[in-house]
Amino acid sequence: MLAQSCLLYCRAGFEKEAAAEIMQLAQQAGIQGYVKARPDTAFVLFYPTSPLEPEALNTALNFSEMVFARQLVLVSQHIQGLPENDRVTPLLASVEALQCPFHDVVLEPADTNEGKQLSSFLKKFSTPLRRALEKKQLLQASSPWRLHLFFIDSSEVHVGLAHNDNSSPHTMGILRLKMPGAAPSRSTLKLDEAFLTMLNTQEQEKYLRNGMTAVDLGACPGGWTWQLVKRDIRVIAIDNGPMNDTLMASGMVEHIRADGFKYLPSKPVDWLVCDMVERPLHITRLMLRWLREGHCLHACFNLKLPMKKRYDMIIECRDVLRDGLADINGHYRVTMRQLYHDREEITCMVIKLN
Ligand code: SAM
Repeated sequence: MLAQSCLLYCRAGFEKEAAAEIMQLAQQAGIQGYVKARPDTAFVLFYPTSPLEPEALNTALNFSEMVFARQLVLVSQHIQGLPENDRVTPLLASVEALQCPFHDVVLEPADTNEGKQLSSFLKKFSTPLRRALEKKQLLQASSPWRLHLFFIDSSEVHVGLAHNDNSSPHTMGILRLKMPGAAPSRSTLKLDEAFLTMLNTQEQEKYLRNGMTAVDLGACPGGWTWQLVKRDIRVIAIDNGPMNDTLMASGMVEHIRADGFKYLPSKPVDWLVCDMVERPLHITRLMLRWLREGHCLHACFNLKLPMKKRYDMIIECRDVLRDGLADINGHYRVTMRQLYHDREEITCMVIKLN
């Protein structure tokens, strides 16, 4: 069965950015189409002018390049008016028509207040549906596809597939993290999520090792520094404010009261992290300077989004970074993403691969 649309989940309020992004990526891939997006719904639908095979769309659209999309689902059918007394039968028919096995099924609402109200219905409904799918032997452990049923309400659903290698593995595209009791600030979750989602398990072992060093610009009270120390990385924390006392007592942190835009380390460090609230281009150029001059190997930083032209600004920052990294030694990977724990900001990670 052909994919009628691409469904992208995003943070509520960022539908315009997710829409601009998918339009641009599709255009670059030579796919004409249009977008349907309503404010504060936390999702966007892209309709190719002519429906395509899910494999073709999956190859053309690279999830890792998406900044504002939390999840990418290739939708085969939009069902409206599911009967209250038997939702399973029409859903089963729609899933069978896919003619594609899948290894798992997830029932999801949008990440909005209305969506939250569907949670208990979805929990209850998932058991009979899963049983029906198993009975028809539609679940196959070896399949790279995951079946997504995205419910707008209890009678309207988008049925589609997401590929393991081109989607988020997390329900609703959200990695939920518990606030560690000992961390000095909630900001800590942003860097934790960045490490856990922008690096795979092997990369986490390779790039976050005991004995490495880091500089944290705008470090106070120390949530980001805490994540590095937790991974046995020594940190130079730059900020005029006060650092958390317990964190300082670890002996892993040197606190220097200095301007983050002027400070440079005497020896190169493995990581530069930065959570200073400043204009995005200003931060991007500072990060680029450190990378180009060899003061750090890798960087992770947040870019606060402006009020207007948020998508254009992010693209501008990405281009400045990519152009600036293109003519220096080494191969860099730049990932940008609006993480679940980011609000009016996005996270950018630059990894020196060799
Ligand atoms: N990442 C921190 C955490 O996890 O606890 C929170 C950082 S807070 C959002 C921003 C910090 O940047 C503030 O503590 C502020 O003092 C610092 N800051 C802003 N401009 C700075 C500058 N030019 N130089 C050094 N620090 C700066």
